[in-house]
Amino acid sequence: MTYSSPTMLVYCLTKGFLSKSLTIGVSLGLTQYRENYALLPPGTSLIMYIVLIPFAIIFLYGLYIRLRVYGFNALLTLSKDFRSWFTQSLKYSILQRRIVREIIPGIMHLTTSYGILVLSIGTLLVFIDSDFLEPFNQKLLHGAFYLIFEFILDLFGLFLIFGIILQLTRRYGGVKRLKPRLEYYIYLWGLLFIGVSGFLLESIRISVTQPPWSSYSFIGNMISEIIMNSGIPSGVLKNLYNVLWWSHAITAFGLIAALPYTNLRHTIVSFIYTGLTYSAPRPPQLAKTPFKLSEVDLSSTEEFKIGFRKISDLDWLQKMGLDACTDCGRCEAVCPAYSSGTPLSPRNLVQKLMKIMWKHRSRLERDLIESKDLGYDEIYACTTCGGCVEQCPVVISPLEYIIEARRAFILDGKMEKKAIETLNSLTRLENPYGLPKTEREALVKELRELGAKTIDEHPEPEYIYWVGCLATYDPRIRNVARKMVEILSKAGVDFAILGTLERCTGEPARRMGEEGLFQELALKNIETLKSINAKKLIVHCPHCYQIFKNEYRELGLEIEVIHHSVLLRSLMSRGRIKPKISIDTLITFHDSCYIARFNNIINEPRELLTSLKFKEMERRGRDTFCCGAGGGNYWSEVKRVKRESLQRLEEAMKINAEAIIVECPYCIAMLEDAVRVMGLEEKIKILDISEVF
Ligand code: SF4
Ligand code: SF4
Repeated sequence: MTYSSPTMLVYCLTKGFLSKSLTIGVSLGLTQYRENYALLPPGTSLIMYIVLIPFAIIFLYGLYIRLRVYGFNALLTLSKDFRSWFTQSLKYSILQRRIVREIIPGIMHLTTSYGILVLSIGTLLVFIDSDFLEPFNQKLLHGAFYLIFEFILDLFGLFLIFGIILQLTRRYGGVKRLKPRLEYYIYLWGLLFIGVSGFLLESIRISVTQPPWSSYSFIGNMISEIIMNSGIPSGVLKNLYNVLWWSHAITAFGLIAALPYTNLRHTIVSFIYTGLTYSAPRPPQLAKTPFKLSEVDLSSTEEFKIGFRKISDLDWLQKMGLDACTDCGRCEAVCPAYSSGTPLSPRNLVQKLMKIMWKHRSRLERDLIESKDLGYDEIYACTTCGGCVEQCPVVISPLEYIIEARRAFILDGKMEKKAIETLNSLTRLENPYGLPKTEREALVKELRELGAKTIDEHPEPEYIYWVGCLATYDPRIRNVARKMVEILSKAGVDFAILGTLERCTGEPARRMGEEGLFQELALKNIETLKSINAKKLIVHCPHCYQIFKNEYRELGLEIEVIHHSVLLRSLMSRGRIKPKISIDTLITFHDSCYIARFNNIINEPRELLTSLKFKEMERRGRDTFCCGAGGGNYWSEVKRVKRESLQRLEEAMKINAEAIIVECPYCIAMLEDAVRVMGLEEKIKILDISEVF
């Protein structure tokens, strides 16, 4: 059976001829088949393998070095949970879920990566066919299978060229996010050469041998017609073919050899790495818990490792994560610390660590804090907003390295003044302000007057309303606590407050890297909540929400945590509360990182605002932009050129918002400060979502 055209092939396939043609090992004497090493002198195959040897050695040595740095036991871990690995890899590497979020870069990466993949598989099949089967008088690339093979290879060759041209256009077009590193240009041009020369080789082969099935190689066939019409003698074409074939092969070998040493390595490493991130701490978890205070044997002299100051402190997956970085800059583009002009760029941090790991591969014990490779301002500028992790196409968490590095800075005691004061206040007075208990007592008195009962007065409430430090000690934020108590009382919610039993959750300490202090406070809070048999907790602070919901659990507290936006939505849907704000005011909503991005609560607060004049800002939901307070930045000082809160306020002003509704006390404090700095008190208000009612 012959297939003179693709249409005929489709017809024959439906008739079941493909299965016959797919049989590997039919004897030669076929109708359609691939003529390997056509137009090349005899012995080319052997010479090619000899030429390949040094490239293969360079490649394998690079691979060995990388594996030695990760630790060879990394290989064992790969095989542990194949199913989880595959599911995760399918999402992020095969379907490239995050890459395609951006249309142009998504198309660019899909076409390039699948172009490379399919052409590599195709080349491998050609080698098997020519060098392993043909010597035994067998053939793989023949019949319908071969025709499909030719068609697919042309199609994906086209994809590759398209993707590379798009990449080069973006790079030469000056897309800011893309770094103009020579290495990138070299391999992009190399790949383009491979794609174009592949088509030229195919078209010369077709024009000289003129197989009747050439229409399946639809691109090669088209170019071959031009070549045939040009009248170039076949001798010249054969010589040209020879030169082109070797240039094509050597460029491909060169790129393979360069793979472990250049950014190209991400093609392999990220495929393995993304799958393995199922076991890594990713939001809502920020980093691994380094120890459990309740289990630490204080009499033991055994030292345990905390934090990251040397590459050797990283586990093998964290090391591999550095190599998986594609240098795409998506993390940098969303990083509030970067956009506010601090020394932190999550991309630069990961790339820097990768280069250090590579450069000092024999001295992984180099102290990166002493050598100033890790700077205090760089590490402490991070607001732990999680934006970088959310965006990273290969699921790297720059945040994880930052938190680990902070733990090392803390051990050195190399903190700036305000941070030290905060930590001292937390240690002495169990609140970050360093204010006396009388302040809390004053608020409790006020809340009781508004209808709240303390846990002593009402020992078995359905809910505990956790007031939090900002609402306790900051006069402006106290209004949120007042509002909440008013709403809860009027709506008939059965609740109590802890009163003077409440203390800081320890969140600022943990974010600054002071794990011991965090756990001390956490254990005390857990004991308090367990002693009163608390089952449900209402919080208005996203930082408290994140801690209670996702971080205390590991230390022994299982409790239902409800953010006030969710509770208010439920009360409104039951008709127990109604918005009081004027419907003529144009409002917008600012999502909190810990609520929207870490805990995926996005619609509930918006549903509270549906009856009002509402307009969204550009960055919203999981793509929100941090106010700048997180990660302990509210409690310490890292210089910024333009604060995050000012940038966010400008974004709201751009849509002419007259009020920004927020769901976090830190956001109120930061944005109100920005309003004062910009002198916009008459133009825009900052309100907590509870203050809408
Ligand atoms: S967590 Fe946020 S602030 Fe920190 S590096 Fe990532 S994007 Fe930047
Ligand atoms: S860390 Fe992720 S998002 Fe950032 S540059 Fe590397 S690959 Fe891109």
